[in-house]
Amino acid sequence: MGNIIRLNDKQPAEEWLSMSNGGTDVLLDVLVLAGSALAEKDSEKEQVVWLAQHDQNVVGLGTVGFDITEMPWTKADFASQQVFMLRCIAAAREKLWWEKLEYEPNEELLMPQLDTFESFIRAMTEELVDENERLEWLAEADDDDPQLNGFPVCRKHQVLRSWCGCRFCTVYGHGVSYF
Ligand SMILES: [Zn+2]
Repeated sequence: MGNIIRLNDKQPAEEWLSMSNGGTDVLLDVLVLAGSALAEKDSEKEQVVWLAQHDQNVVGLGTVGFDITEMPWTKADFASQQVFMLRCIAAAREKLWWEKLEYEPNEELLMPQLDTFESFIRAMTEELVDENERLEWLAEADDDDPQLNGFPVCRKHQVLRSWCGCRFCTVYGHGVSYF
């Protein structure tokens, strides 16, 4: 079992990013850490919160694969969102906020995955943006979900929370969230 990240369903299968469950967690952890450190605009925070909610500790192992086209892109903000995601990937390679991790990522596995993820973000285009993905995500949110409530961060980790809580508290805090 594992998870697959791909650009969309038209991408040839041999180009998909196929990862173990553990590898998926590491990739998403370092992206959420860098994204939480760098996000300023709401459209940037939405991307980070959306990634953060792919939390296998909450929703189940092997269930968090996704298409890049499913992320909450908007046509108006697409260019800046794409630049933001590329900054997050670069910062993840530079280990931004890795001191918050209570484990050592396997860089030999992670760095090529970041390269592939970057290639997907670069392949994303404004034409591929389906704003309904974002609208449905917001419509499905509960009233107290972070994306509808000013993007609160975890008091302990300063990381953007998703409806799953803080990614790092759900692992290390055994369900305790430091809101
Ligand atoms: Zn936390």
